[in-house]
Amino acid sequence: MDRNDSLNDRAQKVIPGGVNSPVRAYGSVGGTPRFLASARGAYVTDAAGREYVDLVATWGPALLGHAHPEVVEAVQQAAARGLSFGAPTEGEIRLAEMIVERVQAGGLAPVDEVRLVSTGTEATMTAIRLARGFTSRDLLVKFDGNYHGHSDGLLAAAGSGVATLALPGTAGVPASVAASTLVVPYGDLDAVREVFAAHGDNIAAIIVEAAPANMGVIEPPAGFNAALAEIAHASGSLLIVDEVLTGFRVHPAGEWGRQVEAGHAYTPDIITFGKVVGGGMPLAALGGRREVMEYLAPVGPVYQAGTLSGNPLSVAAGIKTLELATPAVYEQLDRAADRVIADLTAALDAEGVAHSISRVGSLFGLAFMSDKPGDYDEAKTQDAHRFTPFFHSMLDSGVNLPPSIYEAWFVTMAHDEEALARIAAALPAAAAAAARA
Ligand code: PMP
Repeated sequence: MDRNDSLNDRAQKVIPGGVNSPVRAYGSVGGTPRFLASARGAYVTDAAGREYVDLVATWGPALLGHAHPEVVEAVQQAAARGLSFGAPTEGEIRLAEMIVERVQAGGLAPVDEVRLVSTGTEATMTAIRLARGFTSRDLLVKFDGNYHGHSDGLLAAAGSGVATLALPGTAGVPASVAASTLVVPYGDLDAVREVFAAHGDNIAAIIVEAAPANMGVIEPPAGFNAALAEIAHASGSLLIVDEVLTGFRVHPAGEWGRQVEAGHAYTPDIITFGKVVGGGMPLAALGGRREVMEYLAPVGPVYQAGTLSGNPLSVAAGIKTLELATPAVYEQLDRAADRVIADLTAALDAEGVAHSISRVGSLFGLAFMSDKPGDYDEAKTQDAHRFTPFFHSMLDSGVNLPPSIYEAWFVTMAHDEEALARIAAALPAAAAAAARA
């Protein structure tokens, strides 16, 4: 028996489903998840000692590659000074300053102040409470297929019509909580306007993934986020831009900065960050203009707190990661993505497999359909069954992909020629397997 199988048996007895986050369970592709023992650079090694080129990058944080020596050293030094203080530290100020400085583009600076939290879920949950407190309104507009973490109001499913209040998206969410959310199709500005026409006076905020990457990658229509800002602001609502996944990954100033540079300037009211900003440690953040941020306790009336918020080890990893993530790193990531996309396209074309690849900076996703999906309903029409044999063929050839067709692929600064060549070598067999499915 493979060591991954024996660990899986043990895990199933003491951990629900054997995993601490559901997507790790290989639920849609089947088989035994690889239990990872170590990770370095572009590679991860499983409990059986097998090495894989990694395109998961711990779901985004590993921008510089796994266990970058300077990040590890910064964390070790911080650990030697104390694991947690529960008191303010200089490092927190530095990280907040770095976020404020980086999130500027086209002469705009939407973030004056930052609050550090521990997970992306907390960042979006707090952003929503802040928007409700600031506007004294209750309703939230979110997009179908956008993921913002697992807080109650965000696990909502569309109601029977566009402007109708949402239903619980999972067991355990009270209908009364879901009913404070309105779920609209992604990319559909008419639907957003319809919702505002019906409920505008009571909408606290629109929340949107800066670029969706949790229903596969979907390229935002040009100017979509800017139009959302306009609609929200015209009704006295706020726009919360969720950059937990895209922030400091797709561009030095995040997806917001990329869109501003592309000529679609707008001003978000609150931006949420996670993943890269913590360099692989538990850390996330929300930021916005002073007037909004100072609604948070202890200055303002909106309560939010955290024993481990601004944890010194996480802060050290975040500071070092952002220091090392220079513009040249983003250019290198773009080139690595160019290469994987070219090889993936060639392999699938050679087998005549209908597919499209959607891309936002170095972030990209595969869909088994010829046209790029524009929303979640479209993404669900693809030949998703082709992904299972594709995934397992890649894994057998030593490439670790996200175990779901609806997840983005992540390259890192450590994906050098050798790692990219290993991916290229694995693709033809995987494409052939997908073609047979
Ligand atoms: N927002 C987005 C856009 C995300 O992709 C995620 C997680 N993948 C979250 C929020 C939640 O972050 P966390 O898993 O750290 O709670």
